[in-house]
Amino acid sequence: CGIVGYIGKRDVAPLLLEGLQRLEYRGYDSAGIAIHANGTGKAAGLKIAKAKGRVRELESRLPKRFAGSTGIAHTRWATHGAPTDENAHPHLDTTGKVAVVHNGIIDNAAELRARLTADGVEFASETDTEVLAHLIGRSQAEKLEEKVRDALRHIEGTYGIAVLHADFTDRIVVARNGSPVVLGIGEHEMFVSSDVAALVSHTRQVVTLDDGEMATLKADDYRTYTTEGSRTTATPETVEYAA
Ligand code: GLU
Repeated sequence: CGIVGYIGKRDVAPLLLEGLQRLEYRGYDSAGIAIHANGTGKAAGLKIAKAKGRVRELESRLPKRFAGSTGIAHTRWATHGAPTDENAHPHLDTTGKVAVVHNGIIDNAAELRARLTADGVEFASETDTEVLAHLIGRSQAEKLEEKVRDALRHIEGTYGIAVLHADFTDRIVVARNGSPVVLGIGEHEMFVSSDVAALVSHTRQVVTLDDGEMATLKADDYRTYTTEGSRTTATPETVEYAA
């Protein structure tokens, strides 16, 4: 239902929770967040929190140590699988290195799930979204953008997605097909959301992705390209927004 993401220098969890609250008006049944945790060794890697119910509930469940400056978050409106903690996004692959939030419906999820299960993949949720995390995790491509592209090739249906990968801490990769994705361009920081309402308190410079478009967000720059990999031009527009 709703996506927010941030990459920059600020403490990301409060920013993402605030973004989710701005999306609450759309309705949802659960919420979740994934961040690249600050630190090295065991302290590093992706950290996840999710909860059925309100954003407030998610907030109360955040572990004490949940510091980072890159992350993605989601409010879910269930289409595949009941509203439960397990079915809340983000969804992970089996290595725990890939985290995905998704708006939309994957039409061929049952078929993809059956194929992955036959290959020995164990699913942690009933969602259509989880197939995406496993497909990205299993791609042999070198770059995160290519891994996501490989995965999307298998997908029939609609999506707005944001992806974190533990081995690519300097970026968020997003994609759109039939479900809105808007980039918010800041100074040494970038935002993404499914809804401009979550961006306008931070920046008025936005880039709206087209269907079939992807983007890579880094703290200091962003680029957009098609799901086939050719660059697209993205000129930010200034949104006038009366809150
Ligand atoms: N189809 C996904 C699910 O049921 C995403 C729903 C949404 O857009 O929130 O988990």
